[in-house]
Amino acid sequence: MPSPSPKTASPRSLVFLLLVLLGCGFIATSLASYYAALDSIRDGIVNNELPLTSDNVYSEIQKDLVRPILISSMMSRDTFVRDWVLGGEQTAEPMTRYLQEVQSHYGAVTSFFVSEQSKTYYQAKGVLKKIDQQADRDAWYYRLRDRQEPYEINVDIDMANGDRMTVFINYKVFDYQQRFIGATGVGLTVDAVVQLIDEYQQRYNRRVYFVDANGRIVLTGANGGPLGARIGDQLSEVHGLEGLNSKLSHPQSGDFSYQDHGHGHYLNVRFIPELDWYLFVETHEHGALASIRQSLYLNLAIWAVVTLVVLLLVSLVLRRYQARINALATTDSLTELPNRRGFEMLANQAIQEARRSQSTLCALLFDLDDFKQLNDNHGHLAGDAVLRGFAQHLQQSLRQSDIVCRWGGEEFILLLKDTTLESARQLGEKIRQQTESSAFEFAGQTLHTSTSIGLAALHDDDDLQALIARADRALYRAKQAGRNRLCEETQ
Ligand code: GH3
Ligand code: MG
Ligand code: MG
Repeated sequence: MPSPSPKTASPRSLVFLLLVLLGCGFIATSLASYYAALDSIRDGIVNNELPLTSDNVYSEIQKDLVRPILISSMMSRDTFVRDWVLGGEQTAEPMTRYLQEVQSHYGAVTSFFVSEQSKTYYQAKGVLKKIDQQADRDAWYYRLRDRQEPYEINVDIDMANGDRMTVFINYKVFDYQQRFIGATGVGLTVDAVVQLIDEYQQRYNRRVYFVDANGRIVLTGANGGPLGARIGDQLSEVHGLEGLNSKLSHPQSGDFSYQDHGHGHYLNVRFIPELDWYLFVETHEHGALASIRQSLYLNLAIWAVVTLVVLLLVSLVLRRYQARINALATTDSLTELPNRRGFEMLANQAIQEARRSQSTLCALLFDLDDFKQLNDNHGHLAGDAVLRGFAQHLQQSLRQSDIVCRWGGEEFILLLKDTTLESARQLGEKIRQQTESSAFEFAGQTLHTSTSIGLAALHDDDDLQALIARADRALYRAKQAGRNRLCEETQ
């Protein structure tokens, strides 16, 4: 019996191991570079991009707002305005002419004066209305009056301009004894500012908006502020912005990051002293990191395809090699018949089948006669040629279901499935005669040989060893009886 083969890794587990090794290696390097890129992008966003956008927006805003602030300041100190009020606001005409001049000369969209004494709202086209402490629209005046600071910037709709959204610069006016006598200033349309905000939002894929010191949204792009919040909304009351509000309970300058619905956001807040507002510039992680995430997925997909192809090729090659090794391990190289190892696998299977199906099974054991002498007389190579020739004869006499084997040296076995002793005897006899009458050619020599044959049938309680042992006894008797004959052993 052959010794059990040492345990070796199967091709499947080897391929699996390769897959795990390649996968771990690749995923580790991909993730490492992904996170490194992520870090540097985050770093770039927080430390460069957002502050830069904030700088740009700030300088644009400054450019647009500083001039009107100066004009309003100048109006509040204008002696004409003060004298006219102190003179009792006799006729509106001098004031409206003054406001017209300011408006056309400085290119403002609106200019106004509100008198504390008469509560009249003057603008360039004449008297607009009387202000009313109870009216929401006039709340700004009373707010300004109560403020410490000399002016306030307010985004509101302008009644004198078809209710267009307007940035008002509201300046307090005092008489020569520093008594409050009204408010004056100019307004400019926010269209330009909104347009600017929109442009920045689109160009840099980020959101830009302004919040006053009380956390009220005062200016946004056309699509509103965070999560669609509108001008006038309190930032702390915008639904869904809890993540931001927990980090920033009241506006303050700095860099912040927060989560909303699982999405990361980066935020740069900067105080703008001229406006007394905070400029918020924010970007969401998803947009900024989408391309790098995409390249990670692409990398992984390429890896998957390459790995699949490599593993497929490896497993094909392995399978082919294993088939070849199996064939080599179970085939006799001289005769190309199955060797003992190959035979035993097939024979044990055949015995089990025969037992299961209660069918007959016979074994013919061949041993060439005086083969040592043939070798001695004609040489070992001649002996080899005879062995090959004999093996060919055996194979030619086989049926599909028969199992043949070179048992060793000049001994061969035939296992005949589903065959009676009688049929097996006939086949053995036929082979014996054919061998005896055959001429084997080698190197110009004609060689002859003969074979002795032992025949045995499978008994109920037989295993392969018992069957072959019985055939071997029959063979021994054939040799004893003078060779070149077939003997059978029944017991
Ligand atoms: P018997 O009739 O009793 O079987 O006599 P024998 O000479 O055939 O028996 P023995 O067992 O004494 O010798 C077998 C010989 O077969 C000896 C060995 O050198 C030879 N032999 C075994 N394997 C090979 C082989 O692969 N090639 C060749 N050329 N000879 C082999
Ligand atoms: Mg022998
Ligand atoms: Mg022999």
